[in-house]
Amino acid sequence: MKDCLFCKIIEGEVPAKKLYEDGMCFVFFDKNPQAPTHFLIVPKKHIASAIDITEADAQAVGHMYAVVAMLSRVLGFSDSYRIVTNYGPKAGQTVQHLHFHVLAGKELGTFN
Ligand code: 5GP
Ligand code: ZN
Repeated sequence: MKDCLFCKIIEGEVPAKKLYEDGMCFVFFDKNPQAPTHFLIVPKKHIASAIDITEADAQAVGHMYAVVAMLSRVLGFSDSYRIVTNYGPKAGQTVQHLHFHVLAGKELGTFN
């Protein structure tokens, strides 16, 4: 989609440190890491937010979780990791293209 930062990263129009890519998803390191390992996984299809996910996206979204599990084994953090998706301004979503943060490599604490 025009004027979408993560679509531009997928297309190579904006540079990013790419970790993995296949037909359905694109993975790159976050530019402002919050943990020793912090990358983003995005669907190649432009989906603006978690609230916009439909049943038609089930395969792509499930695939993203499987890719994270695969990468955790390859990169050596399969002991522990966290997947986070922010939706909406109160949750801190700043880029309007669905993305899962993947955080690992330190004690991540608990939410409650
Ligand atoms: P959100 O705040 O929407 O949950 O997450 C957006 C994430 O994208 C942030 O963690 C931010 O650091 C990352 N980010 C924003 N712009 C860029 C960019 O141009 N390149 C990369 N690699 N990460 C970005
Ligand atoms: Zn996009």
